[in-house]
Amino acid sequence: MSESIIVIGGGVIGLSLAWELQAQGARVTVLERDEPGRGASYGNAGHFATEQVFPLADPALLPQIPRMLLDPLGPFRIKLKYLPRVLPWMLRFLFNMTSSRRRQNQRALSAINGRAIADWRTLLASIGAEPLLSERGSLLVFESTANDEQQRMADGFRQAGVRVEWLDARQLHELEPALSPSLTGGLLFPDTGHSVDPFAICQALVDALRKEGVGFVQGEARSIDVTGSVTLKGGGQLQADKLVVCAGAWSRPLAAQLGHRVPLDTERGYHLMIRGESGLSRPVSSAERKFIVTPMAGGTRLAGTVEFAGLQAPMNPRRAEILLPHAKALLPAITGQPGEPWMGFRPSLPDSLPVLSASSSPKVYFSFGHQHLGLTQAATSARLMSALMLGRSPHVDLAPYRIDRFC
Ligand SMILES: Cc1cc2nc3c(=O)[nH]c(=O)nc-3n(C[C@H](O)[C@H](O)[C@H](O)COP(=O)(O)OP(=O)(O)OC[C@H]3O[C@@H](n4cnc5c(N)ncnc54)[C@H](O)[C@@H]3O)c2cc1C
Repeated sequence: MSESIIVIGGGVIGLSLAWELQAQGARVTVLERDEPGRGASYGNAGHFATEQVFPLADPALLPQIPRMLLDPLGPFRIKLKYLPRVLPWMLRFLFNMTSSRRRQNQRALSAINGRAIADWRTLLASIGAEPLLSERGSLLVFESTANDEQQRMADGFRQAGVRVEWLDARQLHELEPALSPSLTGGLLFPDTGHSVDPFAICQALVDALRKEGVGFVQGEARSIDVTGSVTLKGGGQLQADKLVVCAGAWSRPLAAQLGHRVPLDTERGYHLMIRGESGLSRPVSSAERKFIVTPMAGGTRLAGTVEFAGLQAPMNPRRAEILLPHAKALLPAITGQPGEPWMGFRPSLPDSLPVLSASSSPKVYFSFGHQHLGLTQAATSARLMSALMLGRSPHVDLAPYRIDRFC
């Protein structure tokens, strides 16, 4: 008899893992309190950002901290009231700025990102959703950064094993004529990709899972225990041979119930959809403005900003609206009405690595904390976690992603 497994959380991480587990013969149930795919996985920028191998804990951020506290609409924001809560996370973040830690974390990020596109191709082909991955690369563009600094950045990426091409202003304009002629250059990452509809990836996974007989239970896991049992909010229980927590930014209390204390917090991010064409054919990030523009099926998505304000504070729509003037600076001809601002909870750990791990119980596993890269890393995380859970050898050493690395 095959093993029964409960996947808690139906975001892109849980759904991709559910797909791998069922494909390898497990009897899977997905427990999701909301509509699957409506968490962070719904509104992300759709960028398969495999070039992002540098951990976010970067000493270059240090001079910006005073502005982060004071400017409510800047790209990084810590809500003053939330500061005492996030301080322990920040201290660990600072600790991860040392060069040895950065090198270690970068290697661990590269190990996942380097496989991400190939794993997504395989996964999407297996569910008949290949068009949801567009492989045209992506751009990082510059307005005020000097050209020699742009080329130094390109060298840094090359040294980290990322394929990159430096483009001067003319080459950039030839590649993406909609971009403002005032841009001074850009980095083209040919091995990245994007999705014209990240929510559709979750929907395609749900459809494929249902066809394979995977059960979906709508409910909220209130507690889990070492036997693989889940108690639901409002009563009721689910039991399986194994369970895996993929509850994104909400995973921390569930891990704590098994004695695992993880410094998981949320970097809240925003998007604004413009119901009109951008004229772009690939995602474009701004080095100075710290946001991204992605051409999507429903228009143009402007996304970005990091806000530390926890899981409870209401969204600040201005943080999304401020993206429109930024977009106009990059794309002078952009037209179309802005839709409703959206906010999502990135699940983030101070070392920029996810937790891909067994637990203190042989029946409980964890896959969460994919921060800015959950879409990028979902298919690879799913392959690694399914191997770990089903007693096969994962093709990447999972030691850097263990849940007990913060002890
Ligand atoms: C503005 C923005 C832009 C982004 N852009 C990109 C990008 O371009 N590329 C990229 O790779 N990543 C990007 N990300 C990050 C990416 O979206 C996340 O890392 C990813 O979606 C995390 O997936 P997840 O499945 O872990 O979490 P989620 O999608 O949040 O899913 C977690 C699910 O668990 C459910 N849940 C929680 N607790 C319980 C419980 N107790 N019981 C039952 N269900 C529960 C929730 O309802 C939710 O559906 C972006 C994020 C944001 C906010």
